[in-house]
Amino acid sequence: PHAAYDEQNIFAKILRGEIPCNKVFEDEFALAFHDINPQSPHHILVIPKGAFVSFDDFTAHASDAEIAGFIRAVGMVARDAGVVDSGYRLLANIGKDAHQEVPHLHVHILAGRPLGPMLA
Ligand code: 5GP
Repeated sequence: PHAAYDEQNIFAKILRGEIPCNKVFEDEFALAFHDINPQSPHHILVIPKGAFVSFDDFTAHASDAEIAGFIRAVGMVARDAGVVDSGYRLLANIGKDAHQEVPHLHVHILAGRPLGPMLA
């Protein structure tokens, strides 16, 4: 793992099975689970299996297979959730100005209600 990667972050613990999650999908590249504090009727987090702090770290250091596998998983999770027809939003917070809380890359899938303006 990256020197800056905190092995004790909450999503690292979820990946190791040390704390539970409400899993919706898992494969070689990605794990998806329900957000503990949902902001919409569907609020799923998709994380890569590898130790990447953020989208920036991921796109700089992940292999093409990891990137393809992760992005494909995000699309599959949304289709499996049945939200494609009504629409959904993908969101990734990177760093402090974006209020990234957990230092392991996660993409939010938000859906199930009109989501309003993008920026708060
Ligand atoms: P961020 O602000 O880093 O983009 O979002 C972190 C997200 O992780 C928040 O939406 C928060 O509710 C969610 N979260 C934080 N801790 C846990 C946890 O232990 N389990 C789950 N399922 N979600 C969590």
